[in-house]
Amino acid sequence: MQAIELILKDEAATIELGEDLALALKAGDCLALSGDLGAGKSTLARAFLRAMADDEALEVPSPTFTLVQSYDLRIPVSHFDLYRLADVSELDELGFDEALSDGICLVEWPENALAALPKTRLTASFSHLDDGRQLTISGDAAALARIERSLAI
Ligand code: ADP
Ligand code: MG
Repeated sequence: MQAIELILKDEAATIELGEDLALALKAGDCLALSGDLGAGKSTLARAFLRAMADDEALEVPSPTFTLVQSYDLRIPVSHFDLYRLADVSELDELGFDEALSDGICLVEWPENALAALPKTRLTASFSHLDDGRQLTISGDAAALARIERSLAI
């Protein structure tokens, strides 16, 4: 299946997409969030987690220093930020495989552990526009089809 191309005109559009993705993803899905600093990766992850928790006020601390924050939700979600990952082998120690077998993994800075991430994954790549962001979601065809359906609702 073709990649999904979206224009996110403002922060609200990024949040809305995070909410749609929370309806589309299921246990075993890995969503890599790619893009420069300030691109919107954490905004998307926060909206995803709040929607999955059905709690608009859910605290979503940045996993920059802990590298992972886990949430026991309808589907368990682990939010990784690999910016400070020193070595790919550390991903094992963070419990990535267990997190993926139980639930959904959201991964910021996936570039730091590409070799260790599952081949069957989704990648959402942000780029800055003058106004807003361009987003390309590519990867696993079956998961992309689920996302297409949730975007159409
Ligand atoms: P990252 O985690 O990629 O470093 P953040 O999500 O922390 O980025 O920050 C993104 C910044 O851009 C926030 O200030 C947010 O309000 C803003 N933002 C998010 N989505 C959009 C968008 N589609 N258009 C414009 N600004 C956005
Ligand atoms: Mg971030």
